[in-house]
Amino acid sequence: MILSEKNALVVEDSPMMRQLIVFALTRIPKMRVTEADDGVDGLRKLATGKFDIILTDINMPIMDGLKLVRRVRLDPTHKDVPIVVITTEASEEDRGRAMALGANAYITKPIVAQVVIAKVRELLKMPETP
Ligand SMILES: [Mg+2]
Repeated sequence: MILSEKNALVVEDSPMMRQLIVFALTRIPKMRVTEADDGVDGLRKLATGKFDIILTDINMPIMDGLKLVRRVRLDPTHKDVPIVVITTEASEEDRGRAMALGANAYITKPIVAQVVIAKVRELLKMPETP
């Protein structure tokens, strides 16, 4: 079976957190990762091409993850792209709002690579072993 290349967009303002997520994603074969540091940067990157999945933090300066989810769901090109929101343990309300706005799943910090990988594989229907 030939796996086609997948493109992920990671939107997170904390460089350390972003690096953890990117590191996890790059362990998935054929996964290409694009990084953005806030919602506005995320929209800019989305405008450059097609993405198979978006992982976004909620709390970010300039444009937060909730606004990004809303904007993506209104965008004819990207409205069906699966979105995983990344939240802190305490922000149950944000998780609910993100899901109501059209996010598909959420991951709670601290970032655990296996959790990120499993969630992305599930949403992209990618087989467990190459
Ligand atoms: Mg943040």
